[in-house]
Amino acid sequence: MKNLSLVLLLLFMAAGVGALDAGVGVADITPDVSAYKVPLAGYGARLGRPATGVRDRLYAKVLFLTDGARRMALITVDLRSSTPEFKEQIVAKTAALGMTLDTVFVAASHTHAGPSMYPERFWQMQFGAYDPAIVEQMTSAIADAVLEAASATTPARMGHAVGSADGFTRNRRWGYNTEQREANNETPVIDPRLTVLRFDDLDGACRALVVHFAAHPTIVGASNLDISAEWPGVVQRALEQAFPGSVVLFLNGALGDQSPVAPAGDDEFERMERYGEAIAELAAPLAAAIETQEGASIAIAHNTPELPPLTFPEEAARRFAAFKDAAEAALPRRAELHLLRIGPAVLAGLPGEPLLAVGQAVEQRLEREGFTLPLAVGLANDYIGYIVNETEYAHGGYEVESRSYYGPGLGAFMAEQIAAIGAALRPDNVKSETAAE
Ligand SMILES: [Zn+2]
Repeated sequence: MKNLSLVLLLLFMAAGVGALDAGVGVADITPDVSAYKVPLAGYGARLGRPATGVRDRLYAKVLFLTDGARRMALITVDLRSSTPEFKEQIVAKTAALGMTLDTVFVAASHTHAGPSMYPERFWQMQFGAYDPAIVEQMTSAIADAVLEAASATTPARMGHAVGSADGFTRNRRWGYNTEQREANNETPVIDPRLTVLRFDDLDGACRALVVHFAAHPTIVGASNLDISAEWPGVVQRALEQAFPGSVVLFLNGALGDQSPVAPAGDDEFERMERYGEAIAELAAPLAAAIETQEGASIAIAHNTPELPPLTFPEEAARRFAAFKDAAEAALPRRAELHLLRIGPAVLAGLPGEPLLAVGQAVEQRLEREGFTLPLAVGLANDYIGYIVNETEYAHGGYEVESRSYYGPGLGAFMAEQIAAIGAALRPDNVKSETAAE
């Protein structure tokens, strides 16, 4: 019997279609604001003032997937952005599982009410200094959740649905340089796409939902000094209530120029709650209608290319002269590009805030490589600022003048690099999966 299973396992591995097993984990990563000074990251206008309380808690969610041969941990966090230090600690603390920079994918929701956690002076000048103990505590809690998820995997079925959240976003870069935009025949790009990946037990019980949507968590403004996961936290909480026993992960998309259009409410927190609940109400029927299937395969591609040379726009050089040395010291020369293929979906992790047009270019390149469900994921693994294309660079504005560090070609560079590593992911079974649908 034992030999027969071994032969079958080898056959499955040779064909690249081992059965998919999934496990989930949750970690509370809320820093203790009474024990530590915890400045909040997101708005420079807070001038590094520490958090005064906790409005709602911050979580990390883990979806651990393995096909016997390969394993991956998709980790979503209620934070502004990840850092290499943060990810390296998670990898080091899960070394017993053999996890690496390739097999751990960290995606932040981009909440603007999470802790500052940046070792470099450049970011601390904007968001405040942090106590390294809070990062150690977060990564220990996350590593425990990864170990828990990995030790409790069960055979999984997978499915997906793509819907639309019309009217929930606007392009915030529209409203200046309008004459030039009109002369160029440009129209504001928005993307209402709301995508849900669902993972079930073999008996059909929902174990995990992965929700992908592109918008800034900026309903609650800079005057708030309480920790909050913002509307992505509300989406996760509401869907976990609608699907009892499930863990919900949130992935932000190419959100660089996408602002939330929130319903009215008595205050910012009420508007944040209503927005998150409305997105969850749109995602829930999508998730409920998904018919999951066995046989999804997984694969990983990862690269750390050398970035284009550091380039500061003229306007930024003038306005932020005092920041220039710190910026040059802080900004990385290489950055992680990370693809996870999970069934028909390919998560394309970009280490910053891609403008929507850049995300669309990335997804189009992956479509040309034969992938049916490419999803650009912002705020993945690291943070190198806004990822802008040539057209938008020429228009200037906040995202260019304050937060673009690698010149107008960065967007095209990213799309090119993603396509190149995507080609390495294109196995024989991508086409056959498509055909089987
Ligand atoms: Zn942002």
